[in-house]
Amino acid sequence: MTDPNTKPCLNCQGGIKRLRAATLMTWLGNELITVPNFPAWICDMCGHRHFDNRALAELSLLLNPEAGTPIQPITPPTQNPPVNPPPMA
Ligand SMILES: [Zn+2]
Repeated sequence: MTDPNTKPCLNCQGGIKRLRAATLMTWLGNELITVPNFPAWICDMCGHRHFDNRALAELSLLLNPEAGTPIQPITPPTQNPPVNPPPMA
């Protein structure tokens, strides 16, 4: 277990999983998106694969704008002023 790019396969319990590039397909809202060259662990015996957890976490940060809260809030430029301003209390 000195090679960080291999790990034992828990599916067939005999193979070695290696870090390779695979195509990830995932749902983003109602849209099916594909991410090529995504890091995946693929077994050399049974072919079982799972995607790299850390890469998945990074991907979810990229895809979910609410996941990463900016340290300093950025106020977007006002492009559409409210048509109906709230009445004064
Ligand atoms: Zn396997």
